[in-house]
Amino acid sequence: MSTLEKSSPPLINIEIPFPVPKESIIGIIYGKGSPGHKIYKIKGKIFDLRNAVDIFAPKSTPVLAVDNGKVIKVCKNVTENYPNVFNPANVPEEKEDGNYVAIAHENNLISFYAHLKYKSVCVDKGEKIKKGEKIGEVGNTGLAGVHPKFGKYHLHFYIGKWIGNTFSTFPVKFI
Ligand SMILES: [Zn+2]
Repeated sequence: MSTLEKSSPPLINIEIPFPVPKESIIGIIYGKGSPGHKIYKIKGKIFDLRNAVDIFAPKSTPVLAVDNGKVIKVCKNVTENYPNVFNPANVPEEKEDGNYVAIAHENNLISFYAHLKYKSVCVDKGEKIKKGEKIGEVGNTGLAGVHPKFGKYHLHFYIGKWIGNTFSTFPVKFI
């Protein structure tokens, strides 16, 4: 095990623009305020999603890349919503995020945008992306619950990096 793998995630102060137009935001839940933002162990890998953010906005609100980068993963074929986030037992693991886009940036950082509306994802794997470019639209595909105050549609977003076999997310400050 390398020194890097043993160390805690570095504290990175990440300042990025909102991944949706600011004026469309209905509500934001940071980190552990959402039931899905926890540590997952999947096939020997650890995903620490405690710094993920849920941004509620109307259906079809454009989702924008937070920085220049390259698309590394895309899912476009999820048509369903699985509303009960407290009982995810019946949701196929590969469909939990619904339709999503992952973008690689400088410093090995990866940004991730999930629950995108079916047929809205407008980028492909390998594509170069500019900061602020539209990549899809807000939806509720996958395991996306209904919030009593903020409603049915949200973007599940995080930014993080792989350190050894752990994917760590970082707190973000939207500017
Ligand atoms: Zn979330």
